[in-house]
Amino acid sequence: MDDVYNYYNAYAEKRGYGVCRGVVKKSRTPPHPIIYQGYVCDKEGVKNTTDKRHKGLLINCHPDSRVSCPAAIRIILTSLKRWRVSRFFNGHPHKFTRPDKAHNHYSHRTHRSKLAGPLCAI
Ligand SMILES: [Zn+2]
Repeated sequence: MDDVYNYYNAYAEKRGYGVCRGVVKKSRTPPHPIIYQGYVCDKEGVKNTTDKRHKGLLINCHPDSRVSCPAAIRIILTSLKRWRVSRFFNGHPHKFTRPDKAHNHYSHRTHRSKLAGPLCAI
């Protein structure tokens, strides 16, 4: 499953967008393994602006860069205990980040830090 994330994240970096983990479904039977995992574009959804703590206050928020992008990949665990791609949608209604700036997406920064960790320890 991590291989799917790493592969999709590397693909996303080349295209110019970031990846977030999406919906997860676990089995009802113990030990409740994950049987369904989705990964989505980091521009999926919209910012929640209905926080009760901000009611009546003037709040300077960052502008919402998310545009409800529907791009996603979903994988399911088959009865043979193998992961299979159940859905891949690659339509992005937004512009991609330039290749020289794509590493600034959160998913690519954490990915790089995981890779750089063991190398820095040497
Ligand atoms: Zn997108």
